[in-house]
Amino acid sequence: MTTPPNISQMPLNDMLYSRGMSGDEIRSIQSYLQHYGYLQDRFGVLHDGEYDDTTEKAVRLYQCCFGLPVSGKLDPATLCEMAKPRCGFEDIPAMGSAFTAVSRWEQSQLTYKFNSFSTKMAQADIERDVTAAFALWSEQCDLRFTVASDGAVDIEIEFAQGDHGDESPFDGPSGVLAHAYFPPPNGGPLAGDTHFDDDENWTSNVSDTQGIDFLTVAAHEFGHAIGLGHSRQRGALMFPSYSGPQRFLAMDDIAGCQSLYGPPSISTDGDCA
Ligand SMILES: [Zn+2]
Ligand SMILES: [Zn+2]
Repeated sequence: MTTPPNISQMPLNDMLYSRGMSGDEIRSIQSYLQHYGYLQDRFGVLHDGEYDDTTEKAVRLYQCCFGLPVSGKLDPATLCEMAKPRCGFEDIPAMGSAFTAVSRWEQSQLTYKFNSFSTKMAQADIERDVTAAFALWSEQCDLRFTVASDGAVDIEIEFAQGDHGDESPFDGPSGVLAHAYFPPPNGGPLAGDTHFDDDENWTSNVSDTQGIDFLTVAAHEFGHAIGLGHSRQRGALMFPSYSGPQRFLAMDDIAGCQSLYGPPSISTDGDCA
């Protein structure tokens, strides 16, 4: 997997890009569309750096998936959406009309551990936010998450910058915020693992409008770690782009996790009061 271009760092200048144009900006847009799955083989031959018929079809598909007016042109609204920080996971073909369930863990008790922490947030805040992010899912489906200090676990959590050994290097500030791997057999030895780009300005303070709310992004990534793909439904936690803090599951997310694991089981250990 290559690193997608960080659209927010491109000199876009509110321009409108359309059929017949060419240049490095078009090449970057093509690379972005390619990375997230919008440049499909069925659209025909792609001419590198040229806003050709294939590029226009890919832009139309992107606009359709993001609920934007489908013009096939890169208008300011489309470029603005592309420039938003987002999850590094691809959208197509996993992105359905609403939630997408890809694979599931066989067991309902999952373990996790931290391989590293962020340089941007206190360790205690990260641990608290991770617990809260897992709880969003465990409150709605039959899964439980337990932290371990070492040994083999299902979900390994780490913060990393740039190339971090899994062939999906991070891209510096903004752009890709994080990624996670689906349950086995998907993801191979990395199944369930969740990585955060430590070049982001992580925060646990929802009123910090300059920061990226760690709990929100962690909850989204853990959705992948338990087997959900991206949702096309705006307002779902599993929507690909980040638009500010969202510390709750939407109905679509709840339907997604319950399709994999069923509703939460009633506690039998007597401590549910
Ligand atoms: Zn994602
Ligand atoms: Zn990674």
